[in-house]
Amino acid sequence: MIQAQGLCKAFAAIQAVDGFTLQVERGEIVALLGPNGAGKTTAMRMLAGFLRPDAGQAAIAGFDSMRQGLDARRRLGYLPEHAPIYREDTVLDYLRFVARARGLPRAEAVQALEAVFAGLSLNAIAYQPVATLSKGSARRVALAAAVMHRPPVLLLDEPTDGLDPIQKQQVRAMILELSKQSAVLMSTHQIDEVLSLCPRTVIMAGGRIRLDRTTDELLQQSRYHNAVSFVA
Ligand code: ATP
Repeated sequence: MIQAQGLCKAFAAIQAVDGFTLQVERGEIVALLGPNGAGKTTAMRMLAGFLRPDAGQAAIAGFDSMRQGLDARRRLGYLPEHAPIYREDTVLDYLRFVARARGLPRAEAVQALEAVFAGLSLNAIAYQPVATLSKGSARRVALAAAVMHRPPVLLLDEPTDGLDPIQKQQVRAMILELSKQSAVLMSTHQIDEVLSLCPRTVIMAGGRIRLDRTTDELLQQSRYHNAVSFVA
């Protein structure tokens, strides 16, 4: 579902990503770990088709992220690291707009709205203007917008960043539920999240994938503890 082959990206003299090759199948939740500046966000932006790689290819559900960008994006739920929503609408109106923009038929849109409102406890902020939301609320609304159409691929850049413990738990439960039908790649700095949610872990450093193992295997290796010490 997620395929990347030799992705590279440099910003001036900085080689942000250097040969990123990865495959994630439906039903998997893969944690993408690494210290600040490891290249996680840059790799995800290339996978999502928002950043043109200098070399390599990425595909979402079989569609090339750049050359078949529209087809790829229809099958993708992408939560960027910073997902500002510049809109005056209320949360409810904004998410209705997103459902329409994604082309969901009316009955499906109603179901999708009900699911994200219940799953992420958005009822209390339904009539709040999006522009006035707290960071945690804005993050949950951005996530709701990203996953509403239940795409077969989810790319989530630090999905629980800025959330309180209860909200984190809700978001993790939603990701777990969605993963039954989707391939999920999520970056995080939270080791407890990896242990509770992600059976497979990929560790990046210096733009490269350094380790790609089941989380259980990594736990048993002392290398994991070294890795954890620099990403946590
Ligand atoms: P973090 O955990 O802090 O989000 P990351 O692993 O996601 O880090 P990236 O944001 O991909 O890392 O950054 C990789 C490198 O590329 C860093 O050195 C960063 O400064 C650089 N970089 C990323 N985006 C740009 C940009 N638009 N222009 C210039 N340099 C950039």
